[in-house]
Amino acid sequence: MNRGSAPSAAGEELRVDACVIGAGFGGLSAALALAERGAKVLLCESLKYPGGCASTFVRGGCRFEAGATLFSGFDEGQPFRTWIDRHAMDVTVDPIDPMVELRTGAMTLAVGRERSSLIDAFCAMPDAPVDALRRFFTEQRAVADALWALFREPALLPPLSARALVAHIARLPAYAPILRVIGRSVRSVLARHELEGFEPLRQFLDAVLQITVQTASDDAEAPFGLSSMDYYFRGTGHVRGGIGSLASAMVTAIERSGGSVRMTDRVSAIERDRDGWIVRSRRGTTRATHVIANVLPEALEGLRRERYRETAELAELVANGWGAAMLYLVIEDDPSLPSQAKHYELVHDPSRPFTDGNHVFVSLSSRDETERAGPGQRTATCSTHVYAARLRAMTSDQQRAYIERVQDAMRCTMRARASDVYERTKREETASPRTFERFTGRPGGYVGGVPRRVGLAQYGRLWPTELERGLWLVGDSVGLGQSTLATALTAIRTVDSIAKSG
Ligand SMILES: Cc1cc2nc3c(=O)[nH]c(=O)nc-3n(C[C@H](O)[C@H](O)[C@H](O)COP(=O)(O)OP(=O)(O)OC[C@H]3O[C@@H](n4cnc5c(N)ncnc54)[C@H](O)[C@@H]3O)c2cc1C
Repeated sequence: MNRGSAPSAAGEELRVDACVIGAGFGGLSAALALAERGAKVLLCESLKYPGGCASTFVRGGCRFEAGATLFSGFDEGQPFRTWIDRHAMDVTVDPIDPMVELRTGAMTLAVGRERSSLIDAFCAMPDAPVDALRRFFTEQRAVADALWALFREPALLPPLSARALVAHIARLPAYAPILRVIGRSVRSVLARHELEGFEPLRQFLDAVLQITVQTASDDAEAPFGLSSMDYYFRGTGHVRGGIGSLASAMVTAIERSGGSVRMTDRVSAIERDRDGWIVRSRRGTTRATHVIANVLPEALEGLRRERYRETAELAELVANGWGAAMLYLVIEDDPSLPSQAKHYELVHDPSRPFTDGNHVFVSLSSRDETERAGPGQRTATCSTHVYAARLRAMTSDQQRAYIERVQDAMRCTMRARASDVYERTKREETASPRTFERFTGRPGGYVGGVPRRVGLAQYGRLWPTELERGLWLVGDSVGLGQSTLATALTAIRTVDSIAKSG
């Protein structure tokens, strides 16, 4: 990668090696990985703060998580831990226990930091099929071990170098459990272990899969679904003060590594240049050898005024995924509430889909995060999935009414399952897919990327996405997909590809 000329004075045209569009975690990770390699990089973000769907915003003096609240990637060797240490970032990750508490009415399950305690909890339940449970978790662990190992060594992810191929061949025996379940649903694996009728496990699975692979157990591609069951046990924690502090620390690290970051700099067009690209943004024109767009495929088509086969396919898949309905609460603190940050998965009726307010993910800030709200107060971010396709078919009035109904259902679920938190609400803000569209520029307000539905096609989408020479797509709709960790890993692999392409 060549080093471009230094950033020019205001008003002049800038020339860089790479221009990254969007300071969500995909763009932040790409810009940092590029700057670390010595590339001259400019990151343009339309908002005045970084993080996108995983940001912390301020409203009425309180700091709320916009969307994402529970982050992975903090174990030794994982990207965020590596960056925090390498750049001495001022970020504190609190290890919380339990990681999450699942409340479905029939059961309250505190999921601790150790997977063995989760298995023990299932085995101790009345009429638990203990042998089948242990066999299922043995298989699940083998699949998860094989896939999470790749998350620690991004160099083993596509595109594959000769060295990576040799490493994969040496690991073939470890991959055998994956081959056994590839192209199957998680539910079919449950059925093979005669566990389909064991409701507590099905409910746990549907809850965790909905927030990780973005679909239920009967629809989730087994290797991804079984691996993501370990989400709580592999480098996951709570970022004190809100994930925005990690996003801001990454901005500082990019700048200290020689990169430039421009907030409130919305990009309006990407055009082909003789020897690269022209990026037109609110604050000027930038010439770049590479453009890394951390936006949804449909948004990239708008910026480029071009439709690619890949973006058309991806846009369709994203539009058959999800939007989010949100409640942001200010809670009056009480000694009866846990002092540490706490995450709840609440289900009103476990026999219905875990969407539309029937399933609500609630994240309560910790007592000592005094910067989050006024004295004696805490904040809570509450989210539920809404069907993007259903929204798309509605008029804007119908959409508004639908989201209001969903938000009422969220309140109802919280009253029924977490009255200890909800009844102490002092203030409420709301958000809808429209809010996400307005703030993060995601067309339709679609979030969560492409759901990992059963099928082999998705394995072909793990590769970095280069649409034309030097024009790359990152973010949660491509590569490894959704979650802050997955977008970081996709960005790292994309930057590796850029470095190889010169
Ligand atoms: C409600 C909810 C809960 C979630 N919970 C979790 C969780 O607990 N843990 C987890 O790991 N993940 C979670 N996720 C998923 C996670 O937040 C996303 O997968 C991830 O943050 C997406 O990052 P991204 O960089 O792909 O996109 P985004 O976060 O959307 O970032 C895109 C950025 O680009 C900017 N932008 C857009 N257009 C332009 C333009 N033209 N010019 C300049 N800038 C532009 C936007 O302002 C934005 O900052 C959750 C998501 C939601 C919605």
